[in-house]
Amino acid sequence: MSTLPRTPEGAAGNRRGALTGHPGGTGMGQRDDITWHRRLVQWFLLLALWPLGAAAATQAYIAHDASYLPLAPQTTYLHDAGGAATVEDAKRLLAEGRFAPLPDGDASFGFQTGAFWFRVNVVNGNPREQRWLLVQQYALSDRIDVYARYPDGHMVHHAGGDTFPFEQRSIRYRHPNFWLDLPSGQPVELLVRVQSQSSMQVPLFLYTPAAFAELSRDGQLGIGIYYGILLALFFYNLVLWLVLRDGSYFWYLFHITAFGLVLFTLNGLGFEYLWPHSTWLADKSVPLSVCLAQIGMQQFSRTFLDLNTRWRLGDRISKAIIAFFVLLGIAATQLPYHVATPIASAAVFPSIVWIAVITLMVVRTGYRPAKVFLLAWAMFLLGTGIFVALAFGLLPKTFLTEYGVQIGSALEMLLLSVALGYRYAALRNENERIVRDAKNLLEEQIVVRTGELRQAMSELQTAHHRLRESSRLDGLTDLYNRTHFREAFEHLLSQSRNSRRPISLLMIDLDHFKRINDTYGHLVGDDCLRCTSNTLAETLRPYGALLARFGGEEFIAALPGMGLGEASVVAEELRQALRTAPCRSGELEIAVSASIGVHCVDLEARDSLESALQVADQALYAAKAEGRDCVRTL
Ligand code: GH3
Ligand code: MG
Ligand code: MG
Repeated sequence: MSTLPRTPEGAAGNRRGALTGHPGGTGMGQRDDITWHRRLVQWFLLLALWPLGAAAATQAYIAHDASYLPLAPQTTYLHDAGGAATVEDAKRLLAEGRFAPLPDGDASFGFQTGAFWFRVNVVNGNPREQRWLLVQQYALSDRIDVYARYPDGHMVHHAGGDTFPFEQRSIRYRHPNFWLDLPSGQPVELLVRVQSQSSMQVPLFLYTPAAFAELSRDGQLGIGIYYGILLALFFYNLVLWLVLRDGSYFWYLFHITAFGLVLFTLNGLGFEYLWPHSTWLADKSVPLSVCLAQIGMQQFSRTFLDLNTRWRLGDRISKAIIAFFVLLGIAATQLPYHVATPIASAAVFPSIVWIAVITLMVVRTGYRPAKVFLLAWAMFLLGTGIFVALAFGLLPKTFLTEYGVQIGSALEMLLLSVALGYRYAALRNENERIVRDAKNLLEEQIVVRTGELRQAMSELQTAHHRLRESSRLDGLTDLYNRTHFREAFEHLLSQSRNSRRPISLLMIDLDHFKRINDTYGHLVGDDCLRCTSNTLAETLRPYGALLARFGGEEFIAALPGMGLGEASVVAEELRQALRTAPCRSGELEIAVSASIGVHCVDLEARDSLESALQVADQALYAAKAEGRDCVRTL
C-alpha cells in the first residue's frame, strides 16, 4: 500500500486506477507480474519468523497521542472463495492459523469471487479518545460487515457498503465508515468481512472524530474546486452552445458531463448525492459512465477536428469506436459488474491513443485550432501518466502527483474550452474573409458592369445622334431636308424678330435637269445633284445660311440678317458659282445652271414661312419665265 495515497481522496484515486491500468484495480493480472518477487521474499520471511512475528504483527497499537492509524500493517486476511463462511467459521479458521498477512501490506486484490475476511487486534493507547471511526477508504464495495469483539466477550456488529441505503452510514460520507468504542488499554478484535463485485480493495483506517473532520475537509475542498471548475466550464459552454448552436459545443458539454460523472462515481459521490437509494445504479454506474465518457470524447474530437472533411478513414474508425462503446454501454446494463468494468477500462487505452493519433494527423494538415486541442489532450495524458507513475512507486507522493488526474483533466477541460473559442474565432475569420472576398468581387463586377453600361450608353447616344441627324438630312446630297428646314427656319425667324434684323429666302431650281437625266441617265443626274449641293454649300458657308434640299432638283436657302438687296447679291454669286463649276461624273463634265427666286421675309406676317415660300416660288417662276439662269425678285 506504500504507493497509494492514504487520504480519503487517495483511496478514490486508487479506484480510478481501474481505469488507468493501476495494478490494484483492474484485476487484469499486471499486479502479479510486478510484485510477485516481492511477495515471494515476504512469504519466506514470514515463514522463517512465524513464531516471533505472528503475535506482534496482529496487534495494532494506537500511540498515546495518535489521532489516526492505518490498519494494513497488522491486518491478516482470508479469502473465502465460496462466500458462505459465517463469523463462527471465520473465528475457527483464525484459530487454525489460516489467516495470512496482507501481501505487500496492500489490501487490493482486483476482481474476486466470494468474500474476504480481515482481522486486526486494536489496542487504544490514547486515554483521551474512546470513540474512533473505522473508515474503508474505497467507495465501491458492495457489503462490509464489521464485528468488534471486546475482552469481556461481547460482540458488536455493523454492516455497510453500497448495497445499503446511504443514510445508514455512521457519517454521511462517500466512503463506508463505522463508529467503534475502543476503551483505552483494552485489546479489541476486529473481524471485517467484505463481499463485492467491484475490485476487492479494503484499505482500513482508524480516525479520531477531529482527525477525520480535518482529512475529509481538505479532501472536500479539493473535490469542490475540481467540480467547481467543471461546473463553471459546463455552464459557460452551455450558454455558448445555446447562442451559437455549434455542434462541437454540445459534444464538449456531453464530454465534460460524462467525464465528471466517471470521477464522481469513482469518488463515491455519485452514490452519496445522485443515487443514494439505487443500488442497481451504484453497481452499473462505473461501466456506464466510462462508456458515456468515451462516446463524448470521441464524438467531440470528431466534430472539433472536422474529421469528416479532413481525414475520411480516421473518421470511420472514430465512428466504429463510438459504436463499440454504445454497444458496450447497452451490454453493461445486463452484464455483471466484474465482466463489464474491466472491458470498459481496458478499452479506454486504445480510445485515448486514437484521439491523440487523429489530433496529430489534423495538426499536420495545418489546422491551427488542433494545436490547442493537442495541448489539452497532452495535459490529460500527463496527469493520468503522473498518477500511474505514483501508483507504481516511480514518483514520490506530492499534491501534484496525487491529484494528477484531477489537475490534468481540469486543465484539459479548460484548454478544450479555449480551443473551442479559438476554433470559433477561426471559423468567424474564415467567414469574414469569404464575405470580404465576395464583396470585393461584387464591387469589381459592379465597376466592370458600370463601365460596360457607360460604353453602351455612349454608343446609344451616338446612335441616337446619328439617327436624329439622318432624320434631318437628305440621303442623296447630305444637305438638310425640307422637314428640318421648316423647324430650323422657325427658329431663325424668331431670332430675327427678336433682333429685328431681316431674313431672306432663296428658292433655287436647276434648269432643264430632266434633259441631263434623259441624256446621261439618273445616276449621272444624281452625281450632278451632289455636285451642285456642294457648290451651293461652299458658296453659302461664309454667310451663315441655312441650306436644304427642297425636293427633286430644287433647293432653298435662308439668309439671316440679309435684306432683299444683299440676298440678291448672294443669289447672283450662287448662280455664277454654278455656271463656272461644271459637274464631274466619271469622265463627263456637265454644265449646270440654276434659276433663283429671292424674297425678303415679312417678319410681321402671321404665317411667315408659307407666304414667304409662295412669294419666293413666284420669283423663281419669273426667273424661269424670263429665260432661266438668272436671279429674280418680285
Ligand atoms: P425646268 O428648267 O423647267 O425646271 O426644267 P426641268 O427639266 O428641270 O424641270 P422638270 O420639273 O420638268 O423636271 C425635273 C426633273 O428632275 C425630273 C426628274 O427626273 C428630275 N429629278 C428630280 N429628282 C431627281 C433625282 O433625285 N435624281 C435625278 N437623277 N433626277 C431627278
Ligand atoms: Mg423643278
Ligand atoms: Mg428644273
